[in-house]
Amino acid sequence: MQLLKEKILNEGVALSDTVLKVDHFLNHQIDPELMAEIGQAFKERFEGKNITRILTLESSGIAPSVMAGLSLGVPVVFARKRKSLTLDENLLTAEVYSYTKQETNTIAVADKFINESDVVLIIDDFLANGEAANALADIVHLAGAEVAGIGIVIEKSFQSGPQKLKDRGYHVESLARIASLSNGEINFLSEVNA
Ligand code: 5GP
Repeated sequence: MQLLKEKILNEGVALSDTVLKVDHFLNHQIDPELMAEIGQAFKERFEGKNITRILTLESSGIAPSVMAGLSLGVPVVFARKRKSLTLDENLLTAEVYSYTKQETNTIAVADKFINESDVVLIIDDFLANGEAANALADIVHLAGAEVAGIGIVIEKSFQSGPQKLKDRGYHVESLARIASLSNGEINFLSEVNA
């Protein structure tokens, strides 16, 4: 997606060889026009898959997911990272290991928001080692629903996540694919490989 790549090049900062900061348009301040294009791009990539619901993770997955939900005409559910749900809810939960924070967290979704007739599109802002996307897929399976695919805004193709998700048989679509972040330089996969 050309506009997304331009935004990443112009406003993204490679904090290290593995971490990209994009708080000008995705992780802190949000660019609504870019989010609308992202929503449309996800619609084009997953159209025809009979998606009934989108599942994402708070907080940075919410903006692109809402725009994709608007384009596809389906509701958006976000998994919570903190136990702020009332105790009488029946929860679907999964564990997410964060390599950056070196800790495991439990994410949760109230079971009334995903059921076995659902065909779920999972969306997240970044794909690194695949932990978050895998945990979201676990929640979909716990609900007895189907994973239609996984939509990622920014994939770091040099980390283990893309291969892990493909090995589990998921259809992954990433709108920008980064080949490396070495020496403060952001390099995309060439279109031939992308
Ligand atoms: P994974 O679970 O695939 O290892 O990592 C994906 C999650 O970690 C995303 O939900 C995202 O919030 C965060 N993340 C991973 N890498 C980056 C990065 O380079 N930049 C930012 N801003 N977030 C990242």
